[in-house]
Amino acid sequence: MKIHEYQAKDIFKHYGIPVPVSCVARDADRARVFAEETGKKVVVKAQVHVGGRGKAGGIKLAGNPDEAFKAAGEMLGKRLKGLIVDKVLVEEAINIKKEYYLGITIDRKSRKNVIMLSTEGGVDIEEVAARSPEKIEKLYIDPAFGLKDFEIKKLCVKAHFHKGLSREFAHFLKALYKVYLENDATLAEINPLVLTEEGKLMAGDAKILLDDNAMFRHKDLETLQEIAEDDPIEQEARKSNIPYVRLDGDIGIMGNGAGLVMTTLDMVKREGGSPANFLDIGGGGSAEKTRQSLELITMDKNLNGIFINIFGGITRCDEAAKGIIEAIKSMGLSIPVVIRLAGTREEEGRRLFEAEGFEVGRDMNEAAKKVVELAGAYRARRENM
Ligand code: GDP
Ligand code: MN
Repeated sequence: MKIHEYQAKDIFKHYGIPVPVSCVARDADRARVFAEETGKKVVVKAQVHVGGRGKAGGIKLAGNPDEAFKAAGEMLGKRLKGLIVDKVLVEEAINIKKEYYLGITIDRKSRKNVIMLSTEGGVDIEEVAARSPEKIEKLYIDPAFGLKDFEIKKLCVKAHFHKGLSREFAHFLKALYKVYLENDATLAEINPLVLTEEGKLMAGDAKILLDDNAMFRHKDLETLQEIAEDDPIEQEARKSNIPYVRLDGDIGIMGNGAGLVMTTLDMVKREGGSPANFLDIGGGGSAEKTRQSLELITMDKNLNGIFINIFGGITRCDEAAKGIIEAIKSMGLSIPVVIRLAGTREEEGRRLFEAEGFEVGRDMNEAAKKVVELAGAYRARRENM
């Protein structure tokens, strides 16, 4: 579960992590009043669940109350990367001397929590990880011993913190680790962790992901969830009771059974493609449900291909085929569709598809390869238009 920056910063404050003085504003007047009260420069920050708000225009510095009013007015009620902004966080601006990255998450490979610190803060950390992984220091925490002082010291040496700053960083990191553990977070991230001109460390941004499976023991945190701000396609999917998760690629995926769909995502990735979503149509596979599912997938305007993966058990492949063909025809889709069928009445299903001119892969590998190929060609054609 994602929570907003302002909610994460509330938690930080509770644990003694320094954050800027702030207020949450739902209208531009509130932003002006806050700026008047503090009498300082402020920064206005859109509270939506997207990364890279800075680049997208969701972070604005304001030198006076009028500018704060204007900045908030420009964000509120508008969309930022597809999501409506209904709140902004208005903070006293920090005088930034240097930006770091600090994050804690789970490393599944070593089965430990890992602390990551980078002197390349402020920017997209995935980019740093890809371009210059040596600029991210990692500290794996042994669950039996917890976070040790000497380990923190080693991190400080690597980051070239002087003695005073090292002491402050140790407090900071211990508090963040406590936030992470006590709230059952799967990620606690500060980017940028700011070294101010005054020589203090402060959380410039805050991102916390909470483990949904642990929510039963955090009833207080559950109330932080705001369904209204989720992705618009995910909202639609919830209404129709179809398990759908938006991803950031361009190949729409649907299949029957969560495990099969997960495998399909992996296969597409392995062939160099990038899935646009997870969608499980479940058993049955009626024409109606298939059409609903396809409509959901194609709400995503970045789509360049669709991969439909059906395992025929109780659902017979030929029946599923009829439903899929009917749905695609009624929608008049122009995006390339690749199908893979296996199981009960597979041959009959395949013949139905082939009679209509559809691409059917012999197995999952071939189908994945094919959809990646066709999506690439479709993308190239779109870009040349
Ligand atoms: P994100 O783009 O969604 O990660 O939003 P951030 O809160 O991380 O802000 C992005 C960038 O805006 C930061 O890396 C800073 O460079 C800048 N920024 C944010 N808050 C302040 C502030 O209070 N003072 C100054 N000078 N810059 C800020
Ligand atoms: Mn950030």
